[in-house]
Amino acid sequence: MQKNTKKFLGWSVLILIILTPVLLWFLFGDGDGFTNYADTVHSLGELFGLVGMTIFAITFVLSTRISWIEDVFGGLDKVYIVHGLLGGTALLFILAHPIFLVLKFIPGNFPLAASYLLPSSYWSVNLGIIALFGILGLIYITLYTKIKYHKWKFTHEFLGLVFLIAVFHIFLVRGTVSQGIIFHGYYVYATIVSVIGLWAFSYSLFLKNRKMKNAIYKIKNIIHKDDVFEIEMMPEHKPIEYHSGQFIFVRFYNEKLSEEPHPFSISSKSNSEFIKIVVRKLGDFTSSLEHLKVGDKVSIEGPYGRFNFKNYSHKNQIWLASGIGIVPFIGMAEDLSSEFQIDLYYVEKNENKFIGNSTLREIEKRNKNFKFIPWTSEKMNRLDVHKIKKLSRTIENKEFLICGSPGFKEEITKQLINEGVKKSNIHEEVFDFR
Ligand SMILES: Cc1cc2nc3c(=O)[nH]c(=O)nc-3n(C[C@H](O)[C@H](O)[C@H](O)COP(=O)(O)OP(=O)(O)OC[C@H]3O[C@@H](n4cnc5c(N)ncnc54)[C@H](O)[C@@H]3O)c2cc1C
Repeated sequence: MQKNTKKFLGWSVLILIILTPVLLWFLFGDGDGFTNYADTVHSLGELFGLVGMTIFAITFVLSTRISWIEDVFGGLDKVYIVHGLLGGTALLFILAHPIFLVLKFIPGNFPLAASYLLPSSYWSVNLGIIALFGILGLIYITLYTKIKYHKWKFTHEFLGLVFLIAVFHIFLVRGTVSQGIIFHGYYVYATIVSVIGLWAFSYSLFLKNRKMKNAIYKIKNIIHKDDVFEIEMMPEHKPIEYHSGQFIFVRFYNEKLSEEPHPFSISSKSNSEFIKIVVRKLGDFTSSLEHLKVGDKVSIEGPYGRFNFKNYSHKNQIWLASGIGIVPFIGMAEDLSSEFQIDLYYVEKNENKFIGNSTLREIEKRNKNFKFIPWTSEKMNRLDVHKIKKLSRTIENKEFLICGSPGFKEEITKQLINEGVKKSNIHEEVFDFR
């Protein structure tokens, strides 16, 4: 199935699931619940709550890292973008839920409206208030604070608890309007959503770790130069199967390192027995890699991602890398066959920073259809689309694969689109999941 068809189908199914409570309401409710102002805002309040919970449950499903979900959205990095987008949307719907419920007391009874949002002797309602403030706090941390990744991840895991509290709220409070009209359909649906959400959350929290136990590797070689580590790993048992350009989650077993798994692109060619990653020091974890030793155990989860030149229709491609974004291109360049015509632009600040230059030069020598263009921004100024057009002769009928810093990706993508390149011909790997 075509990539765009899969994406279209995926989004259609998502929207259908999200809108199911609305359909149920109108199918089984016969339009009741919307006869006067008070009923209408109340019904809308309940519907917003249920739609919000559905989207909330879907965000958990998206973070399970199940392979067919990646297929639908075109890679795990894209899945996490949709996850973030839906997380924000769930919050808006969940916020609208109490707002619409109290609207029915306004303008007549402001004190009653205000008291509706405060704790009372109704525990079923109190649970809703706790869940609301819980999700607000946790999403605020995600969107507006810059705490360290592992601390953020720890806070993010409390969303499962918040979801569970919200499930208790739904079942104990029993929507008054919906109760009479569509009691069965409404609660069957709420039960399905709750079970799926809780299953997906538990899967991510507990079962995903088990997957890492299946692929145990050992460090074969480490090269540490300036702020970059090249780490080669060999399998203890069966090697994993992967395509160049994909990435893996890696957990190193070394007493001086955290056991938190981190994502890194594979820089070796498809299905090599030995897997190589190249890591640039960025924060605490990547700096602590200097303690790694040959022989240390490693567990690998993956591969993930769909960033591979064979996945796109044009065989004439321009690859654009900045900084550590060169890593997935190294393995892809090794895999190239002569039917592909590739120009690889690689931007670094200065010559000392280049990674994998000699490998890429060697590939250029043996493959006349592969052109390697290292670009130092200190000497050659910024790389832009006009320079690309000049050096690659044309940008028409080509695919563009981009990996690098967010600024570089945004700038180049904007310029390409301004020059008439279709968005569907631009593919990027995002080195950030948060
Ligand atoms: C798909 C993908 C491929 C990547 N490939 C490479 C690569 O080939 N080489 C390379 O040097 N870097 C790569 N990265 C980035 C690398 O994962 C981060 O630089 C590294 O995890 C930073 O950890 P830190 O604790 O040193 O830095 P911190 O300062 O703690 O984190 C910096 C940023 O890295 C991200 N990050 C941190 N920890 C994790 C984690 N456990 N899981 C997910 N993201 C995290 C967060 O966005 C965070 O804001 C890749 C990232 C992704 C998402």
